[in-house]
Amino acid sequence: MTLGITAFREVNRRERANEAPVEYYKRAVEDRILDFEEVILGFDEEMAMAEAARCLQCPDPQPCTLNCPAGNDLPAALWHISQGEFLEAAKIFSQTSPLPEVCGRVCPNLCQEGCALSARNGAISIGKLEEFVADEARMAGLLKISVPEKKTGKHVAVVGSGPAGITVAEDLIKKGHQVTVYEAWPVPGGVLVYGIPSFKLDKQVVMLKIQDLEEAGVKFVTNTRIGEQITVDELLEQYDAVFLGTGAGVEANMSVPGEELNYVYSSTDFLIRANVPTDMLPAFRREKPWVGQRVAVIGGGDTAVDCARSAIRLGAEEVTIIYRRTEAEMPGNKSERDICLEEGVKIEYLQAPVEYIGDEDGRVKAMKVICMELGEPDRSGRRRPLPIEGSEFIQEVDTVVLAVGYWPDPLMGDTTPNLATHKWGLILADEEVGATSREGVFAAGDNVHGPDLVITAIAGAHKAADSIHAYLNKQPVQWVSAPND
Ligand code: SF4
Repeated sequence: MTLGITAFREVNRRERANEAPVEYYKRAVEDRILDFEEVILGFDEEMAMAEAARCLQCPDPQPCTLNCPAGNDLPAALWHISQGEFLEAAKIFSQTSPLPEVCGRVCPNLCQEGCALSARNGAISIGKLEEFVADEARMAGLLKISVPEKKTGKHVAVVGSGPAGITVAEDLIKKGHQVTVYEAWPVPGGVLVYGIPSFKLDKQVVMLKIQDLEEAGVKFVTNTRIGEQITVDELLEQYDAVFLGTGAGVEANMSVPGEELNYVYSSTDFLIRANVPTDMLPAFRREKPWVGQRVAVIGGGDTAVDCARSAIRLGAEEVTIIYRRTEAEMPGNKSERDICLEEGVKIEYLQAPVEYIGDEDGRVKAMKVICMELGEPDRSGRRRPLPIEGSEFIQEVDTVVLAVGYWPDPLMGDTTPNLATHKWGLILADEEVGATSREGVFAAGDNVHGPDLVITAIAGAHKAADSIHAYLNKQPVQWVSAPND
């Protein structure tokens, strides 16, 4: 007899709390560092049911759901999985995200950090269970997008085809509007294709989503950079509304002498050339980055980890991440960091480069590094790194990758009259409704709040899509919060 969710909550609760986590399949290190294919293979049916059955079905408010930026009803999803009702679980994840198959793969699992079991035997692997049920739903054809037969006659331009653009496109096409998505790269997908490495997210997963959107009627225009080939004002002449979801793809700069040397790469350039198949790249980006034996990656976030893992796969023998604070202040995902250490990457804390030194041919051959100590917390709340005078030393390197942060492309603000932007090109927008300073122009995602999670961009884009729908129906869209609070 199958127990209902309420009865299940009370049965064998103590025993379930003591159950060991079910380990999902992962490729062996010696195998996976030879290619760029996905590392995590995930659960099979039996394993997924056993892992989900560990869930205690905590009373409301459940800490996992409170920690999830999308507010997913995770206990209900886990209950369905424990009963083998995978498609029912998939429907719950799809209620908040058009990309559950992506979120399951790349979400940093904030829900798991909140899980009541994390202090006992280990949190439930919610992200990998989401990936499992989303892939099941994909195979069952459940991720197809239904659209109304009757169209509204309204047409929206979406600029950018990353998580925010995909979300707005799907939400609006489902409401009967026509949608055209503009993408600067040769293939749609934005950061999902050109930022996140294939060993974390297979590009085919993204391509299947793009195919779903195309079948639902979304039109994609690639190799077109809005603000350069076409302005936002020109889009407003052709469309009833414009959504800006251009992300944050411009690299921050440390201005360290020697950054112009050969084989000192920006993380974007390095990741794109290393990870993206050449037929998805413009001709000038098709050459693989050169890595010597010793690679230094400067930075501490997920991008630094992605670059280090890519360098290992390109054949580097010694890959070191150089970070100016300690592990406690590191911004990235700990489980990603653990995987990267497993693959042989070293991390040096409390160090920062102060100069890159070149040889007579202009190639980097070493860097001068200074040791740091932590001072008082800065505005981010993290303790400020302070250089220790006289602690400099020389470290030989063959390749350097700079992964020190991202900001939006200022092009949009520079080429759109009266589109207000503020620090580092961020678009001034109400994060509750996505309204900008220009009527008919909406924005959400990393170009509004700076680099953040895929699920955060999705959450903001849902709100912007609701506002666009209201705007197209001549309902007022009012700013409800101070811009970019
Ligand atoms: Fe289940 Fe953990 Fe959420 Fe509790 S916090 S309901 S154990 S997933």
